[in-house]
Amino acid sequence: MDITKTVNSLKGRGFGVKFFETGAEASEYLKAQLDGLTVGIGGSKTVQTLGIADMLDKDKVFWHWSEKKPDTLVNAAAADVYLSSANAISEDGEIINIDGTGNRVSSLTFGHKKLYIVAGVNKISPDFHTALDRARNVAAVQNCRRFEAKKTPCKTDGVCHDCRSKDRICNGLLVLWAPMGSTETEVILINESLGM
Ligand code: SF4
Repeated sequence: MDITKTVNSLKGRGFGVKFFETGAEASEYLKAQLDGLTVGIGGSKTVQTLGIADMLDKDKVFWHWSEKKPDTLVNAAAADVYLSSANAISEDGEIINIDGTGNRVSSLTFGHKKLYIVAGVNKISPDFHTALDRARNVAAVQNCRRFEAKKTPCKTDGVCHDCRSKDRICNGLLVLWAPMGSTETEVILINESLGM
């Protein structure tokens, strides 16, 4: 994996990039950036592992993974800034996410003053096609395996079948080629293996 190429490609496409050796350093940086702002968070094992939500004012954080209120997703969509991970990032700087509900991909396209995309270097793939393959056959499959009740074929053999299951969690694909519209988008790249 070529981290330098990835960073340069992302910058070339207009994304802000911050590179950290450790998740702890990245979390401290984000804590300082997010102070005083309302923060929406998408489903993200990476954000969960880093404990970022716990470092912030809980009255200003809207995350359906930690708060089961009916309006959490709506409040997250209206927050000042939004935190997400990526299912894959190509060395050419394309950022790929698959979503089932749509909250994450919609927030990555519109509605916030700033986006932070937090990802370990394990999310980097050589090119678009291998990144898409990672998103479908690694991230989505592992994500599906988190849900005990779901009956999808990928849980059995670890490969995406583009299934027609009612339990399917892959309903939409977003590729960010560049920051959407005028939304400032910063990639927080961490030199660790994080998330799925
Ligand atoms: S088999 Fe279905 S649920 Fe599993 S990764 Fe593929 S589309 Fe998603």
